[in-house]
Amino acid sequence: MPGLRLPDYHTHTERCGHARGRAEDYVAAARARGLSAVGIADHLPLAHDPDPDPTLAMPLAELDAYLAEVDALKAEHPGFVLIGVEADYLPASLEVTAELLGRLPLDYVIGSVHFLDGWGFDDPRYVEEYERRSMDEVYRQYLRLVGDAAETGLFDIIGHLDLVKKFGHRASADMTSEWEELAARLKRAGVTVELNTAGLRKPVGELYPAPDVLQILGRFGVPLTFGSDAHCPEAVGRDFDQAVAAARTAGYRTYVEIGPEGFSEHPLP
Ligand SMILES: [Zn+2]
Ligand SMILES: [Zn+2]
Repeated sequence: MPGLRLPDYHTHTERCGHARGRAEDYVAAARARGLSAVGIADHLPLAHDPDPDPTLAMPLAELDAYLAEVDALKAEHPGFVLIGVEADYLPASLEVTAELLGRLPLDYVIGSVHFLDGWGFDDPRYVEEYERRSMDEVYRQYLRLVGDAAETGLFDIIGHLDLVKKFGHRASADMTSEWEELAARLKRAGVTVELNTAGLRKPVGELYPAPDVLQILGRFGVPLTFGSDAHCPEAVGRDFDQAVAAARTAGYRTYVEIGPEGFSEHPLP
């Protein structure tokens, strides 16, 4: 079914060990949905880890094949396919990430926080850890890390901005001032935030970020783009109508596209 003419910059492939479909299947799905572009952004190898969990990210040994595969698709679909990665923000091994990213010919990098001091807080296998923690502290720690990630300069797009709510855990304190502080940091750092529709299909049942956070981002002038975080080809461009409606409600009139000359703002469809 055709959807809105928007780009989807956040898709994964079977190389990461927890998604289904090859890059070409995602490209075909994006064409079928009538998207304006598709970015393949698989999980960057966890290069700091000598024995990484094979279900979290593509193995380092597959990185060259990934680049070649998506490069061939770019050549086949000029201007339609982009190559990116989703990189973890891991403060303890930032230099390893920076060194790896520095030598990759990428169109963009999504930076995401999936770990709080080694705790994979968005992983269903470790969800019981939430019961042992203060949610206010978890939120504050997470938001600080996202701001730190943005300020590294390594990332163009910040992934699923309020991922910490994935399983429905909420802070009890009002986090408005923390979100405002983060929005100011994001704006200063010059990063774009993705409106990520995967949260709609998670226990929380909301877009990342939620409408109140999106409103704060809009107020601070943080640029916005779109991602489905698809882990199967059918999810490419999914729920982008809801994402555009949420962006408009938050006061946005434009979104960011990545072209040959870099990032540029376009009117929302
Ligand atoms: Zn994933
Ligand atoms: Zn992610």
